[in-house]
Amino acid sequence: MKFNTKTIHGGQHDVDPAFGSVMPPIYQTSTYSQTTPGGHKGFQYSRSGNPTRAALERSLASIENGNYGLAFGSGLAAIDAVIKLLKPGDEVISTNDLYGGSYRLFTKIYEDFGIKFHFIGMGDASNIESFVNDKTKMVWIETPTNPMMNIIDIKACAAIAKKHSVLLAVDNTFATPYLQQPLDLGADIVMHSATKYLGGHSDVVMGGLVVRDKELADRLYFIQNASGAICGPQDAFLVLRGIKTLHLRVQRHCENGKAIAHYLKQHPKIEKVYWPGFEDHPNHKIAKSQMSDFGGMLSFVTKGNKYEDAIKIVESLKVFTLAESLGGVESLAGHPASMTHASIPKAEREKTGIVDALIRLSVGIEDVEDLIEDLKQAIG
Ligand code: PLP
Repeated sequence: MKFNTKTIHGGQHDVDPAFGSVMPPIYQTSTYSQTTPGGHKGFQYSRSGNPTRAALERSLASIENGNYGLAFGSGLAAIDAVIKLLKPGDEVISTNDLYGGSYRLFTKIYEDFGIKFHFIGMGDASNIESFVNDKTKMVWIETPTNPMMNIIDIKACAAIAKKHSVLLAVDNTFATPYLQQPLDLGADIVMHSATKYLGGHSDVVMGGLVVRDKELADRLYFIQNASGAICGPQDAFLVLRGIKTLHLRVQRHCENGKAIAHYLKQHPKIEKVYWPGFEDHPNHKIAKSQMSDFGGMLSFVTKGNKYEDAIKIVESLKVFTLAESLGGVESLAGHPASMTHASIPKAEREKTGIVDALIRLSVGIEDVEDLIEDLKQAIG
């Protein structure tokens, strides 16, 4: 099955044996009757499993070319489950340009449990080698990164991870499986904030994991059930519905993102635009080889790098909404330094380019002329 067919049909065969509904019913139940202890029809209690969630988990596995999917109550809950594979004393190598919430989870929660994180530049993946030691158990990457749109070579990371027998986990939230399929490039775990492009309509918070290996899936399922950070059936239904149009939406996100990146690049008041589709992006070649297009996310800095200028722009936008999050049909603008990445200390943030004048755009699927007009009036 090809990708566009998988988004609609992947893992969805016979979702309602009772009445043949095309969409799976929303099984809004916490428990399931048993004829005799253990005599159930495959589900016993909805933390352990729910048919609507199971339909979504099969869809996630299908679109990421994996064998097992797991859905969680948020992207961070999914990341949390992955880190719970580790033990005190273990080490993780991650990127220095990481989503602020992931950084906060790693440094403010898991460092206290004795797990050590190295945040390093991964523009050149071979940097990872010098941080690997016998305590290293995982490499955690995000590509494109949030919000600097850096690109990390997944294949190169996978080769290093394999050589040292450590797990490679890839946060594929920005790219989506429509543009990039990390398991095919050698990753062991793909993670999603399904809140973003997979859900696609800014109406649900959810996380997902996909793996190929049965033993790893069993360990993650054990954590999902034992820790309990599952999503509810109504949310599972919404994300499943969102996934059915993922290919069409992301295609338009890419077209609009490209037009806006080029518009901003030539604007006299804009200093720099971060978008992996530009040939002068430092890892453009890698982006081109591992992604089928460049997505709808981009960031830019105004000339003079003044905080007030950035705030004035985000407050003046009328079609773009000033809001956290990304990946929905509507265009959003954000100010990472004071919003999504405020949990990263200023000095750390600025080292990676998250300066006070940086603005991040999640370009939606509206008519691009309206989006450009909006940016024009806001930038002045
Ligand atoms: N990973 C990335 C790249 C994100 O952008 C986000 C949220 O913005 C997350 C993970 C966390 O996901 P959630 O907000 O669903 O917990």
